[in-house]
Amino acid sequence: SNRTKAETILVIGLGRFGSSVASSLVRMGHEVLGVDENAAIVQDAASQLTHVVQADCANPESLRQIGIGDFKTVVIAIGGDLEASILTALAVIEAGVPTIWAKANNERHGKILKSIGVKNVVYPEARMGQMVAHILTGKMMDFVDLDNDFAMVKTRAPHDLVGKTLEQAKVRQEYGVTIVGIKRSGEDFTYAQANTVVQKDDLLIVLGETQLVERFASRT
Ligand code: ADP
Repeated sequence: SNRTKAETILVIGLGRFGSSVASSLVRMGHEVLGVDENAAIVQDAASQLTHVVQADCANPESLRQIGIGDFKTVVIAIGGDLEASILTALAVIEAGVPTIWAKANNERHGKILKSIGVKNVVYPEARMGQMVAHILTGKMMDFVDLDNDFAMVKTRAPHDLVGKTLEQAKVRQEYGVTIVGIKRSGEDFTYAQANTVVQKDDLLIVLGETQLVERFASRT
């Protein structure tokens, strides 16, 4: 976004996920309009967000009243109420909003949202669960799910790479992943080069298909 005026983003549903998205956007300098059909929730959110409205967003007329046509980005953060999520998504799509993000509580929910035309579907619970599993096993120190099956992880260098350059270790051919960054203890991360020699206790930033980076990290 540019420095003049960040666009206003509409966040529909101010439950745990929606309110977290909304307040993060506010901290990042965006104008946010938060909407929820529940008056008590709207009242709570008013202290954190500059603009809040109570409305049932599954109703196209209510959406029109909050000026849906002016928004370029809308986040639909309704998880539990499947019908409300789908009807809201449909109304937002029909209003012609170009960029729509929606939370899905499970895969079936996500499939429906995708099939009616929501391009960006996120699964916060599933993602967080996957990340915690990776981190608590101690194999990965950080895990970023970049797409459904593409990820970036921070992990210790596997033993069989120690003493070799990345070229000698044939990381891409042998493991199907790309090492993009490497860090010696006490030093900063640097970009990995073909002639970088891996040392014991080096930390690596590894990019690739989720399954392959998981397999790579489990060798450490
Ligand atoms: P989370 O798990 O992130 O808390 P929930 O699905 O429990 O998500 O919360 C969804 C929020 O969306 C609730 O605060 C609910 O009042 C609101 N909501 C549900 N349906 C609508 C609707 N049609 N229009 C606006 N807000 C809605």
